[in-house]
Amino acid sequence: MAGRLSELYPASRCSLDFRSPFELLLATILSAQCTDRRVNLVTPELFRRWPTAARLAEARQEEVEEVIRSTGFFRAKAKNLLGCCRGLVERHGGEVPTTLADLVTLPGVGRKTANVVLGVGFGRAEGIVVDTHVGRICRRLDLTRRTDAVGAERDLVAVVPRAQWIVFSHQLIDHGRAVCLARRPRCSGCGLADLCPMRGVVAPAGRRGRGAGHGKEPSGGVHSGGVGRQPGRKPRRNVP
Ligand code: SF4
Repeated sequence: MAGRLSELYPASRCSLDFRSPFELLLATILSAQCTDRRVNLVTPELFRRWPTAARLAEARQEEVEEVIRSTGFFRAKAKNLLGCCRGLVERHGGEVPTTLADLVTLPGVGRKTANVVLGVGFGRAEGIVVDTHVGRICRRLDLTRRTDAVGAERDLVAVVPRAQWIVFSHQLIDHGRAVCLARRPRCSGCGLADLCPMRGVVAPAGRRGRGAGHGKEPSGGVHSGGVGRQPGRKPRRNVP
């Protein structure tokens, strides 16, 4: 599956705009419950006004809230940005630390954000980023049955080649956007269909995906419009 994903999505990459690990850290904190496209609209102004951790650590929270308002949950995010920058200044000389243990002590930084920063910002494969989309697709692929990100990540790192850990989640996110949609996965046109057990995918008109019957997809709710693979029909390769 990992090899096939690389064939299908050779150019997958992080879609957040950034020029340094510091900018990536801030953008990733902002990306919670928000699209990367929306984050990319607000970060130029954020980075222009507060280009360093030291500057942002001293900013007024209300001003930061105004700049990031459209990303949602802006009060909590502004508080986290300021707390994170204070932590960087007080404990790391204003630099972004390069270990998971240090990163997750910063406000607003969980394991997912830390993995993004380490993988994308520093090229260090310490884990696999598991967000809602990655989790959903990996459960359909039966690479994990866990619904919690930490448990799912543990299952994934056991089977995905380490060399692909960083790009794996970007490839799955691209696949989730183009083909393995939350409510209506396009299984009949999916490049992974011959490898995928389609666990929890409910097909229309009484036809069921191969995993159905073992339980519904836990996070995506009801896939009432989901499409099972057409019996006897050769799966087409997805063209990203
Ligand atoms: S076959 Fe269906 S469930 Fe499996 S990865 Fe493709 S779109 Fe998703």
